[in-house]
Amino acid sequence: AAIIEIEHLVKSYVIGDNVVHALNDVSLSVSEREFVAIVGPSGSGKSTLMNIIGCLDIATSGSYKLRGQEISLYTEDELSEFRNRMIGFIFQRFNLLNKLNAVENVELPLVYQGISSKERRERAVAALEKVRLANRMLHTPMELSGGQQQRVAIARALITDPPVILADEPTGNLDSTTGKEVMQILQGLGSAGHTIVLITHDMNIAKQARRIVRISDGRLVSDEEVSRS
Ligand code: ADP
Ligand code: ADP
Repeated sequence: AAIIEIEHLVKSYVIGDNVVHALNDVSLSVSEREFVAIVGPSGSGKSTLMNIIGCLDIATSGSYKLRGQEISLYTEDELSEFRNRMIGFIFQRFNLLNKLNAVENVELPLVYQGISSKERRERAVAALEKVRLANRMLHTPMELSGGQQQRVAIARALITDPPVILADEPTGNLDSTTGKEVMQILQGLGSAGHTIVLITHDMNIAKQARRIVRISDGRLVSDEEVSRS
């Protein structure tokens, strides 16, 4: 079944007398547990699409349904509640808090949900085990390598068990070997029941997904399964 259903999506920005169509008639359907990469050059509309898929922004026109819910009908409050439940974010710059250690960073999304400190710790340790980093849980971000920091960020994204993981250039700050390790972890999340949407400008990274959707000038220009030999 499709978890993400986008139909004839348009996102326009008005700048003075000009209208920029950051997304222009985009239609895309992603099934549960799929691992799809959205690839395109700078300025092609990737961030705009990611912000809409991630319920951070709403389209100008067209339809976006996430688990059957039409997002454009939501109020701001409903949207942020739905986002927290449905989406785990992974960013290029990790976005960890430097004053907190790894396990405290991973626990953070649960603090806002009012979950007890005992349960928070148990779930955070389990999430760190999934990214093979439980042995570093008391280290702060500055005491970890870039790849380890990104694994902490992945554990933080997983802690609420969101159906969709949205990864925006997750390997952009990593060398290629470390980037491959992070991609292997993302590949494993598909088997664990998450739907992964990866945004990247790097075709070599995109090839490690199962499906590649290319975007150019705000339009989808191709949509292909990745063949594995
Ligand atoms: P990418 O992430 O692929 O670099 P973006 O989604 O950031 O692409 O941008 C797509 C197009 O929309 C670009 O032409 C960009 O200048 C324009 N754009 C993006 N955000 C805004 C905004 N907030 N206001 C005006 N134009 C924007
Ligand atoms: P950039 O594309 O400049 O590298 P990021 O990848 O950090 O920026 O962020 C991409 C988008 O996600 C931006 O629109 C930003 O506002 C939003 N964003 C960044 N950090 C968070 C966060 N912690 N929670 C929710 N949204 C975020």
